[in-house]
Amino acid sequence: MEVSEATWLFGVMLAFAAVTPPALHYLKAKTLAATQQFPEDPPNLPKLTILLPVRNESIVIRDKLDEILGMEYPLSRVSLLVVDSSSTDQTESLAREHLEKNAEGVSWKIENAERLGKSIAVNMALDAIETEIFVMMDADAMLQPSSLRLLARWFQDPMIGAVCGQLNLPHESPRHPYRSRFNTLRVGESVNDSTPIFEGSICAFRMSAIGHSRIDSGNNADDSQLAMVVRRNGFRAIMDPEIKFFEPNSEKSTGKRSRRVRRAQGLSRAFWANRNLRSKRYGAYASVFSSQLYFHLIFPWLFSVSVAIICLSFICGILEFPENGWHTVFFPGAILVMGSASGTCRGILDGSLVLIQSHLLLLTGRRLHIWEPDAEMRLAIRRNRRESG
Ligand code: GDP
Ligand code: MN
Repeated sequence: MEVSEATWLFGVMLAFAAVTPPALHYLKAKTLAATQQFPEDPPNLPKLTILLPVRNESIVIRDKLDEILGMEYPLSRVSLLVVDSSSTDQTESLAREHLEKNAEGVSWKIENAERLGKSIAVNMALDAIETEIFVMMDADAMLQPSSLRLLARWFQDPMIGAVCGQLNLPHESPRHPYRSRFNTLRVGESVNDSTPIFEGSICAFRMSAIGHSRIDSGNNADDSQLAMVVRRNGFRAIMDPEIKFFEPNSEKSTGKRSRRVRRAQGLSRAFWANRNLRSKRYGAYASVFSSQLYFHLIFPWLFSVSVAIICLSFICGILEFPENGWHTVFFPGAILVMGSASGTCRGILDGSLVLIQSHLLLLTGRRLHIWEPDAEMRLAIRRNRRESG
């Protein structure tokens, strides 16, 4: 066998070997996700603290507060805690004025965090929250009025420590196929035991499942970090697909690379820091966790290297044509053509490159735990909200 022939074969085998564990994990999650069961509404709704961490959210803050005040939940059982980290755009005064005018009967408080970083604000809030359940939200996600009630019903089960909602993208969105696989995975993992990957846009936690634990304030993945804390402390962390949240259809924004790289880095760091959750004592979660640890830290490198090997052997095949025969051009070429025609393959490669970029930034000492809000996306949200009344 010639060298170039052996090379593309090696590339293909490496790609298959890399993809097999996540593919099996996905198939299992898909079967399990279909069996998810939902609890009844509780006879008594629990008291909730709503935590809204914000920095420079003047575009959306008032609409977000209105959305909270319009929730189908007795507002006498809700207290609102806004933690503002030194916004420079009047977020705080806008929020204060708006609440003074519109939040009659609701107890609310605005706290200030001097140091920037969402996780710092979350840790600060954990020291201040007085109810057993708290709900965390993003200023920029759009929720349904049923969200609080749907979250609250899960906490009747004393083993449930955390619940999060699910992002709904319209079918025509180019990111829809990727997102629906992501969602299936999270729900399947939740049925199996718990999901380590959480959605900070809408999530709720049991304070006693967090206890004295706090998150790494230098890492932005506050939502997933909290989910891992909860599981470490012996409770379950699950995703409920009935609790939907929405982002604007402006695809350029939701798919923004800098945001994806930042999130990928936060998750990679959280997986690495919590790697001992692979231990057998965490039951079914150990395999869920191992699978995601592999997927975020090792898979992107293996997969990208295998694609690079196939590309290289294709180039070599062309350079050495015709001495080595047509097949050294045809086989790697055909694989590359088929791969780039498949949306799934392109998506996997794209996701791998985002993760690799996030790892390289980490290795060169660039931590992305402080970021600026995406104004374009927030303007789109404001338009969306106005249009839908
Ligand atoms: P994304 O959804 O991951 O793109 O992140 P966002 O930019 O929407 O941020 C999530 C939430 O955290 C929003 O409500 C932000 O205002 C808030 N946030 C971001 N950075 C900080 C910060 O440094 N301090 C506080 N208190 N909140 C922050
Ligand atoms: Mn957001």
